[in-house]
Amino acid sequence: MNFAWKRQLLFSGLILTGGINAQTPTRPSDYFQQEVAYRIDVTLNDMDHTLAAHLELDYTNNSPDTLEFIWFHLWPNGYKNNETVFAKQQFKNGGTKFYFAKDEERGYIDSLDFQMGAVHLEWDYHPEWIDVARVNLDQPLPPGGSVIIETPFFVKIPKIFNRLGHTGNHYEISQWYPKPAVYDRDGWHPMPYMYLGEFYSEFGTFDVRITLPREYVIMATGDLPEDDPEYTFLDSLVAVTSEYYALVTDDDEPDKKARKKWLKDIKKREFSEPGDSATKTLHFHQERVHDFAWFADKRYLVQKGALWVEDSTRAITIWALYLPKYADSWEESVEYLHDAADWAGRTYGTYPYNHVSAASGDQHGGHAMEYPNITIVGIAGNKELLEEVIMHEVTHNWHYGIFGYNERDYTWLDEGLTNYSEIPYWHNKYDAENGGRFLSGLPQGIHRLMSRPFTMRSVKHSMANIVTSTGDDVPIDGDFSEGSLLSYGLAIQSRAPVVFDFMEHYLGQDRNQALWDDFAQTWFFGHPGPADLRAAYEAAAGEDLSWFFDDLIGSTKRLDYGVSALNRQGDEVEVTVTNIGEIQAPVEVATLNKRGDVLSAQWLPGFSGSQAITFSGEGVASATTDPGMYAPDFNRSNDHLPLFHVADVDYQRPALRFLLSAPEPDRTRLFYTPALWASGYNGLTPGLVFYHGIAPPVKNRFYTALLYDFGNQRPVGRTALTLKRYRVLGTDELSGNLAYTDYQGRNETRVTLQAKFRERAVAAPYWRVTLQAARRSLKPAAFDTLYWDTGRINSTSLEAYYYDNTLNIWQYWLSGQARLVSGKLGGNSGAVSGTTAELEGHLQYKLGYKKSLQVRGWAGSILSGQNELPRQYKFWLSGGLDPEFNNITVANRTGSGAVAAYDRYYIQQGPGLRSPNFILPGPRAWGINLSLEGLLPGPLSAFVDLAGTDPNDGRNQWETYFDAGLALDFGPLHIDLPLYDNWSEGDERQLKNRWRLTFKLPTSPI
Ligand SMILES: [Zn+2]
Repeated sequence: MNFAWKRQLLFSGLILTGGINAQTPTRPSDYFQQEVAYRIDVTLNDMDHTLAAHLELDYTNNSPDTLEFIWFHLWPNGYKNNETVFAKQQFKNGGTKFYFAKDEERGYIDSLDFQMGAVHLEWDYHPEWIDVARVNLDQPLPPGGSVIIETPFFVKIPKIFNRLGHTGNHYEISQWYPKPAVYDRDGWHPMPYMYLGEFYSEFGTFDVRITLPREYVIMATGDLPEDDPEYTFLDSLVAVTSEYYALVTDDDEPDKKARKKWLKDIKKREFSEPGDSATKTLHFHQERVHDFAWFADKRYLVQKGALWVEDSTRAITIWALYLPKYADSWEESVEYLHDAADWAGRTYGTYPYNHVSAASGDQHGGHAMEYPNITIVGIAGNKELLEEVIMHEVTHNWHYGIFGYNERDYTWLDEGLTNYSEIPYWHNKYDAENGGRFLSGLPQGIHRLMSRPFTMRSVKHSMANIVTSTGDDVPIDGDFSEGSLLSYGLAIQSRAPVVFDFMEHYLGQDRNQALWDDFAQTWFFGHPGPADLRAAYEAAAGEDLSWFFDDLIGSTKRLDYGVSALNRQGDEVEVTVTNIGEIQAPVEVATLNKRGDVLSAQWLPGFSGSQAITFSGEGVASATTDPGMYAPDFNRSNDHLPLFHVADVDYQRPALRFLLSAPEPDRTRLFYTPALWASGYNGLTPGLVFYHGIAPPVKNRFYTALLYDFGNQRPVGRTALTLKRYRVLGTDELSGNLAYTDYQGRNETRVTLQAKFRERAVAAPYWRVTLQAARRSLKPAAFDTLYWDTGRINSTSLEAYYYDNTLNIWQYWLSGQARLVSGKLGGNSGAVSGTTAELEGHLQYKLGYKKSLQVRGWAGSILSGQNELPRQYKFWLSGGLDPEFNNITVANRTGSGAVAAYDRYYIQQGPGLRSPNFILPGPRAWGINLSLEGLLPGPLSAFVDLAGTDPNDGRNQWETYFDAGLALDFGPLHIDLPLYDNWSEGDERQLKNRWRLTFKLPTSPI
């Protein structure tokens, strides 16, 4: 579809209806801002990983109030113990790395002695937070008054758990000095350090003198004096770094061999030992910023560039510093910094500082974080992902940095607008293929396989659709510091960009740009709040934007318009649009021709109920709402309506698509991909898989695999239909699945119904109830008849399952299952039936970071039909046989070959002994399985199993079995090595007869 001209039409339409009523927003009359100026002298001790420093702070009270004290942030104390808000927040979200950290790995700030002149000031920690202090002033500070406060301070740098930290002699120094909390129109804003929940600090001037061994390459907020010899040092590294990229072949391709050698050599560079007494002192100066961060590593490679600002009177220097191991992904980092700062400067106002830089972390952090002038990127990834991260963080220089929103209270302002910026940036730079490049950051290059590439817009829309269709959305303007990482991601990273992008489309590019021009003029260095942003948008729109700020941002109400009727009336068509949702937002309506191209588009102001609108009827084949798919429309299937009796409409035909493709809500699609399945009975079975939709918001999923079994000379396969609904009939997720399978020697029809109960935007705890009924006929040749009865077998089971991980250190799940089995077995003339009941529980207790004790307990009873029950349903002592075929990784049930179920392939069901035991079990059995993970070196873990069964012969005497051994974990492949059991004798004792394997892939009965 071609929309190039549409914006112009839209824009002129708005002018004609008097849409523009721009009023430049101004700062409110009660607005003020405190003034701070920091002078910090700091010395890095790279043997102890500490900072010894002295702070001198000028503080000017521009408020109308007299201040008796000042709140100071002492955020390195967030890393002091497990009682800090940071520690508790990490723990609550499932992180145990810090919880289990040793004292020497943690960090803190101390040696504080706040003074005014010769007077030592009284100060104390915040009653709840040791990373906030209240410093009482010697004398009350009246409006307009200034004081100078000084203090020494000492920081023990933690290992990298979050933003401040080191790995070896790699230093990431942020949130490291005593910093006054903001005092503004709303009073004081003291806040503890958090990893989820950002910052709010006063704008001011920083003069920071950093002393460190001279071999360190360092980049920081602020500028060095122009003639500083450090620039010569950096330029020499630029020259060294460029050698690497000059290693190309005759056809200008990277010379991989030469580059590999170069990297090897550069990594061998020798540096002085830590504690080198040859130091340098660098003086960084920066005005009008609200934070100061610095990053140092002796190994950094350096690239340099320049960005000429729009009027070409001033160049901004670009620095990229990165570890040699990232040399390939960072090759074009200067371009990313340039393009991001250029785009953001044109959009949000000219960059007011002299450098824009990025430094690589040392992978351990795994995060990226913005600071004034400089960004730290801890994610390795590839070029595409790096560009996305750098672009995102550089844009923060405006929203977080220059505007300086209160990020802690209003996450959506900074992160929402920054995430939104990715859409226009990507669309400007890469046009059609743009989102595909970004997606390739996931499995690299997957976008090349896509029949229709994603765009950045469709990526964000897809994410937002998943959230809204599962009912997991929370309001965008929520307080995420108390919430979970999941709810933050859902609202801020997916929904916020979509709604701001829709607003930009509604306003049109010109008015959107005018808005930001005005906003920049008023609010550069100003700490604007939500009301200020709303005032700016409303001034630009010339209308009340309650539907945007109250409904789309402030609630989880659904936006959903659809075309309910389309009628030809002479030369015109009348389109009836109906509001099915809960938000009266403006809606764009368009007519389309046969090929699906937009003929004409018009906006309707928001309404409830239905409204009709007429268009020229020439060439019209259909009508749609939101033709460019900008709106966060909840249900797109009702958007589009064809004119009755129009034949040959291209887009009405179902489209066949390969593998994966961007959403095309206006048409029905069938995907296909080649498949190669394999099993012990069928051997390799090639074929094709067809499917319709994978993830939500597709509610009804169809899937079929058509394969050919060359061994048995017949077609085989599987077909399944899944219906899923969210938040219906008192459940949170209700699904039904109907599947037919002809594979692995079974002919099976199976129905599954599952209800799941869980909280919104919280992964656990949850419980679910599953009812499953299956009818199967099993071929004798496909099964090992030692363990399987074949013939016609029906089974019905009911399972209740509960999972809880909210206690973090303790995680557990419990399940209870009852099953009824009946059928007609091969070679047996009579019908059989039996019932079983099982209870199972798993408990994981964390002993340390990545160390745990796993306990499984199981008990089962055959309630009736002990002698009739098909053998695969009996409680075999050494794992189960997966009689319901839930486990797709069991490839061989024939009893021959290397991965035969039970013999070699271990399935943790029933009593679960890991050493193979071939004793026919009795009607009752139990098992306890213990594993110790992470305590032995490498992939090794240890296990112990205990199991019992009452014997078959009717004696009322339990027999118990015991085994112990080691296990090896290689990702999904798990190998058990039973070293001892109390039943094997002679030859059977040999490990080569007893090792067993499991593929641990997530499987689901649906
Ligand atoms: Zn961000």
